[in-house]
Amino acid sequence: MVKAVVGANWGDEGKGKITDMLAQDADVVVRFQGGANAGHTIKNKYGKFALHTLPSGVFSENTVNVIGSGVALNVPRLFEEIKDITSKGVPMPKIMISDRCQVVMPYHILFDQYEEERLAGAAFGSTKSGIAPFYSDKFAKIGFQVNELFDDELIKGKLDRVLVQKNVLLEHLYHKPLISEEEIIKTLAEYRDMVAPYVADTSSFLEQALRDGKTVLMEGQLGTLKDADHGIYPMVTSSNTIAAYSAVSAGIPPYEIGQIITVCKAYSSAVGGGAFVSEIFGDEADELRNRGGDGGEYGATTGRPRRVGWFDCVASKYGCRIQGTTDVAFTVLDVLGYLDEIPVCVAYEIDGKETTDFPVTRLLEKAKPVLKTLPGWKSDIRGITKYEDLPENCRKYIEFAEEQIGYPITMISNGPAREDIIMRKSPLKK
Ligand code: GDP
Repeated sequence: MVKAVVGANWGDEGKGKITDMLAQDADVVVRFQGGANAGHTIKNKYGKFALHTLPSGVFSENTVNVIGSGVALNVPRLFEEIKDITSKGVPMPKIMISDRCQVVMPYHILFDQYEEERLAGAAFGSTKSGIAPFYSDKFAKIGFQVNELFDDELIKGKLDRVLVQKNVLLEHLYHKPLISEEEIIKTLAEYRDMVAPYVADTSSFLEQALRDGKTVLMEGQLGTLKDADHGIYPMVTSSNTIAAYSAVSAGIPPYEIGQIITVCKAYSSAVGGGAFVSEIFGDEADELRNRGGDGGEYGATTGRPRRVGWFDCVASKYGCRIQGTTDVAFTVLDVLGYLDEIPVCVAYEIDGKETTDFPVTRLLEKAKPVLKTLPGWKSDIRGITKYEDLPENCRKYIEFAEEQIGYPITMISNGPAREDIIMRKSPLKK
């Protein structure tokens, strides 16, 4: 059985926590896209961790953690992360890296920085982790697969060709120091030695795991609205964040995915630029930002303050639909307990017309939120374990959100810890 945990929104929905929770019963957890540019925050018995590349199954001793072919693998960052968790008492996790996964090259990170500098005001708000240059090279077919690190001749030949092109850009476009082939060869040899014990044909491994009836959990980064195809292009990430892509990255048939748990946050938050229709500003935003998440809405990787806003039914409905949601995990609901009234964005007004369909970016930029205000519940809901025990207005908020998005909310997260979860029977669940 394959389950996917993905985001409905702009990321930071609390996927890490839901994955960590589900990873306890999973035999395998697969990270399927993105790189060290975003992070999950997980709080469990070992402490609080920000995972960037490691799959969230690393805290469960029996779980195999697979890094799929779709991931942008930053080798030194991966090993820093392993060191970080093991130094805090987590047993050395079982890790497998797809032999087809590609490596983030040191120059990808440089090009990311140089390009953001060059674009200045028109920049994409990149985290400068090399992700966009990495995926550009991957699809221009000048990337380096992990298995290639084991072939010196191949590496040399490929670098001879690739570096000519890179160095032209460095010299004439960016006016920066050129790349030395010798140094890159040395770095790649170090990477090879680091990854050697973990490299495997993970697609075959997963095929066998599924034949043996194992439970496999696919773990996504960011959310639908940052998907390179279906998100708010171009303010998106450079890979596909949707559950469908997990089959590609894992190398398994798409029909194996039986459950798609879409994590949807009870209010909105986003990092980086781009249209954000229900965004709020000023004191109202500061209060939500500071009370949000677990200790404030600040990026797990960058520490950047996140933009915040009210729950957006239009974006969340779309976000859930594109993921192919079977279950919604509605998260960070406890944070809203301070509000007398809670505005919710129920539609967009674009050129004088109201719509509940999420538009393409060109039109999204013109959208104004149509808000409806729901009564708050004015209490702390942390610690509640049964749906019936939630305050009536809180249940009404959940039921309103469910009706608007049209997908069953079967899990409600009311705190950052693994145990802070309420299971619910939804009338929409088939
Ligand atoms: P991810 O990228 O989707 O995993 O999200 P992040 O980990 O970046 O952001 C989620 C933040 O919210 C983290 O700090 C979590 O510890 C925290 N969090 C997750 N679920 C809840 C919840 O239900 N309530 C509260 N208050 N915080 C939560």
